[in-house]
Order: sequence, then structure tokens, then C-alpha cells
Amino acid sequence: MTTLTQNDTEIRPAEFTTRAVRAAIASDLEHGAVVPPLHLSATFAFESFAKPRTFDYTRSGNPTRAHLAAIIADLEGGAGAVVTSSGMSAVALVLQALVKPGEMIVAAHDCYGGTQRLLRSLAARGQFEVVFTDLTCDDYFWQTAARSPRLIWVETPSNPLLRITDVARICAFARSAGSLVVVDNTFLSPALQRPIELGADVVVHSTTKYLNGHSDVVGGAVIAATPELAQELGWWGNCLGVTGAPFDSYLTLRGIRTLSARIRIHEDNARVIAAFLDSNDAVRHVYYPGLSSHPGHALAKRQQLGFGAMISFEVEDGVAGVKRVVERLRHFTLAESLGGVESLVAHPATMTHASMDAASRERAGISDSLIRLSVGIEAVEDLCADLGSALEA
Ligand code: PLP
Repeated sequence: MTTLTQNDTEIRPAEFTTRAVRAAIASDLEHGAVVPPLHLSATFAFESFAKPRTFDYTRSGNPTRAHLAAIIADLEGGAGAVVTSSGMSAVALVLQALVKPGEMIVAAHDCYGGTQRLLRSLAARGQFEVVFTDLTCDDYFWQTAARSPRLIWVETPSNPLLRITDVARICAFARSAGSLVVVDNTFLSPALQRPIELGADVVVHSTTKYLNGHSDVVGGAVIAATPELAQELGWWGNCLGVTGAPFDSYLTLRGIRTLSARIRIHEDNARVIAAFLDSNDAVRHVYYPGLSSHPGHALAKRQQLGFGAMISFEVEDGVAGVKRVVERLRHFTLAESLGGVESLVAHPATMTHASMDAASRERAGISDSLIRLSVGIEAVEDLCADLGSALEA
């Protein structure tokens, strides 16, 4: 694993792990509960007339959700976080809170399909202008970015081709253009990438993925680099009512305690599987930033603390070839989503990216022959054997 060297605010890996494990442990003053209790109450009694306590109503604030927000902000190196009901409500919150009519957003042309759908739909209603470009810095990106967009929306590594965007470079440019940079950090989690240390203003997560890590919560988070942005986003989170449920927050907080340990195994498995696929004759191309042949390998090594556990690869024979492989897999479940302890397989063209039209998919390089793996923490020998026999057949 490499270490980030961008600035002095970095958290040492060991410190990160300890903070994640110990988040809000033994913080209960009433009973000394080691694990913080789950507060399901929708409302909280006032201490006396006109004298509310810290929390008055769960949409606005809740003790369990507050513990989760605090540790997510801490792990991302932010000033504050809003925990939301899904990754998409986190995306929607950022757009509602930070972009005014007439302003422009530049977004990665291969960002998550749901994010693209929301950006296009709100732009079609005249809420803002959106321009999709290749953020791995083609000329068109620099031309568009020179128009001083309100937001630059980055997703790195991108979904599903794992393209790597140079966050520090884009942030340096954004500062001179007066733009804010938002990074969707879902694919790596703060265990492997901390965009605020690279200069980002806002980080977005689908906590459904690695942060919770057990595929039993749909949730999201928005983390702000400054107290002012945190305040603005928190105000809008309450105003729009997109804040997350206490039980979901409780489970996600529990998931975060094992984030470092899980990510280590996820990544170790992914390295072995990427090499295995790369040497398999039935595989046309492997997309994994940990492979030295990946165009973003050097940048990923510099910018990230690891390469993550998402791998995409192409097989022969288009959709028919994909169908043959996924139907034979036993240890990879054919399902949407990623980042859980169990391995999943997806066909982006008909699943995760079906909400993009065919032309946009083609522009983003997402072919019908592409298969995406979310590598879990099962025994890697079993995963390789499973892939080997599915590809052989
Ligand atoms: N961002 C990324 C990168 C995603 O992969 C997803 C979902 O897959 C989302 C955002 C949306 O998250 P959710 O499904 O929790 O609403």
C-alpha cells in the first residue's frame, strides 16, 4: 500500500483503523453501554418550556445518526457530514443545496448511471446546465471547465471502467475558476482515498457500499470540507427531509468498525483475481487500476491508498458470452450494488448503467461484453476456481 503525501492533514493508516473501530464507543453516559444505543424516537421531550435539548426531532437531528455523521466526517477529514437516506439522496442534496438556476455543472461522462439520470432530468427542467466530459482531462474538459462551472462532479475510480481522475489537478484548477469540486468516493471509501486531503470541497458516498459493507442498508452521506459548507448542507438536509433513518445509521456505524479489516481482504482478493483474469485466454480485457497495464495505474498509486476491489473485464461473444459466464458462476451473485462482504457480478449495459442511453454508454466505453465484479472477502481460491470454470465452459 502507498501513503498519501499531499498535505499534513493525513491520517496514518493505523490511526484511521483505530478511529473507525472506536467511533462513539463507551459514549453512553446514562448506562455506560459500550456500544452506543440505538435511538429510534422520532421526537425528544423539551427540558422545559422553550428549552429544547440537543435533539428535538429526528429529521433535524438524532443521536445515533449524529454518531455516524461524526465518524464519517472524521474519516474523510471533513468539517461535518450529513447522513442521508440513500446515495442518490446525497447526490440530490448537493445539487439542491449548492447549485442555483442558470449555473453549470461539469460531470464525468461515466459517472454512476443514477447520478447521470438525475443530472440530465434536473437540467431538462431548467434547474441548471450540465455538461458531461471525460474528466481524465481531455481538451473538451479544459474548455468547459474554463467557463467557471459552479460544480465539477468527479467519480474516481469511475464506474464501471475504473478510470482514474487526477483530483488534486482538478481541484487546483477549480480554485482558480471559482468552482466547487465534488468527489463521489463510493468505490474506494476513505480507507483508500481521501478527496478532501486532495483539495475537494465536498465528498459524496453511497454508504450502501463499502462503508456499511454488508448489503443490508441503503444509505448515503455528504461530507463538507469547511464548516460553512457543512452548515449549508445540514440546513438543506433537514429542509428537504433527506436525512437517514436511525436504524440504518446504527447498522452503518457497526459496519464502519470493520471497514479497514474488510477493505484489506477485499483488496488482497481483487489483486489475485485481476491477475488471474488478465492471464486467462477467454478474457479480452481487464480493467483494474492495480494492473500496471491500466492507463491510470501510476496516478492511482499516487492518489489512492490502495486499488480497491472493483474489477471489470470483457469476454468474447457479446451479451451471449456474458450470459454464459454469469450463469455459471456460483460464488458471485448476479445483482446490482457493490462493496458488501459477498462477491457480486453485474452486467453494466443491462443493469447498473441501463438508465444511460446506448449512445452515452458507447461514448463512455461501456460495451455489451463488459462484466463488473465486486470482489468480496470469501476465500480467494474459491473465487478464482469459480471464475476459471465459468470462463472455461
Ligand atoms: N454513487 C455511486 C458511485 C454508486 O455506485 C451508487 C449506487 O450504486 C450511488 C452513488 C447511488 O447510491 P444508492 O444506490 O445508495 O442510492
